Amino acid sequence: AASVSFRNVTKVYGKDVVAVDNIDLEIEPGKLVTLLGPSGCGKTTTLRMIAGLEMSTKGSITIGGVDVTRLPATDRDVSMVFQSYALFPHMTVIENVSYGLKFSGHPKSDIRNAALEGLGLVGLADFADRLPSELSGGQQQRVAVARALVLKPQVLLFDEPLSNLDAKLRRQVREEIREIQQNLGLTVVYVTHDQEEALAVSDTIVVMRNAGIAQIGTPRELYDAPADRFVADFIGEANLVECAITSVEGDTAEVDIAGYRYRLDTRGLDVGPATMAVRPGRIVLNRDAAGDGLEVTVSKATYVGSRMEYTLATPVGELFAVMDDVYDPLDVGQVVQLQFADIGPVLLPEA
Ligand code: ADP
Ligand code: MG
Repeated sequence: AASVSFRNVTKVYGKDVVAVDNIDLEIEPGKLVTLLGPSGCGKTTTLRMIAGLEMSTKGSITIGGVDVTRLPATDRDVSMVFQSYALFPHMTVIENVSYGLKFSGHPKSDIRNAALEGLGLVGLADFADRLPSELSGGQQQRVAVARALVLKPQVLLFDEPLSNLDAKLRRQVREEIREIQQNLGLTVVYVTHDQEEALAVSDTIVVMRNAGIAQIGTPRELYDAPADRFVADFIGEANLVECAITSVEGDTAEVDIAGYRYRLDTRGLDVGPATMAVRPGRIVLNRDAAGDGLEVTVSKATYVGSRMEYTLATPVGELFAVMDDVYDPLDVGQVVQLQFADIGPVLLPEA
């Protein structure tokens, strides 16, 4: 497994379509790094530049410390799994998986064993002699994964590999990919626009927006401390609350939310109007009206099986909260005290 690094990399298509705008990126060996962002933000282009299927317009790319910026795809030790499995329909499963090894010069029996081992990794050793059309979508995608794995690439790339699968299979195949990646210690760069998928599989998530990088962090860092509104909104759900920073002491800000005072990390902000992001699950609603929270009214209560969802009317606008207690829910119209969990809100840089 190799590292991948981008230095000031830009990709312009044609005259002026800037698909990737001056990005820096460090991917450590043996990690699964996800490129996450809305459609058109430059994820596929970034991946294709690692593969050598697109050449960067500016900047440099290294794989395992070797400068590959101008190296053609065939000379890079990288393989890619696509959204459309791209299997050869007239070849059996094992022929598909062996295909990339055919020209390697290894004896036929070695190639067959390697292909069977690859199929074993994805749980399809018994399907070696079937045609792709005789497999389900999830099985076909596993064959595509096996085909990439047998090449033992330094870096394995996935471009929205689960988009064609239904929700249940998506979860299953993503867990398999993560397990194989961890067991074999592979460097994987994984593209998705699905934030839940990104949170579930990644060591590190690179959130992309408009051809650039909005934030890089672990799933927890991005969820607990989004850098800005875009990341707060794109990863999970967030309430954005208008507040005021009334004083700053060192790294601690005192924040006023309609009279409710709260201490938070300043994140470099100074006294003045500010915005706070609060995850729905980090709101605590206290029935004890004598508490010292912010007084709010339950305006909507929805039972969704695993939890209750509440809409709250508050002096700072409507807030969305979720609670695990489904057996003793709050009533619409009930007045409660709102507080925040310990890992609660964060201040966002824009006011
Ligand atoms: P994503 O994978 O995040 O959806 P892409 O990397 O595919 O984004 O595309 C980024 C931008 O580059 C988009 O505006 C897209 O229209 C444009 N683009 C992608 N491929 C090409 C191409 N071959 N020629 C011209 N423009 C392209
Ligand atoms: Mg794409």
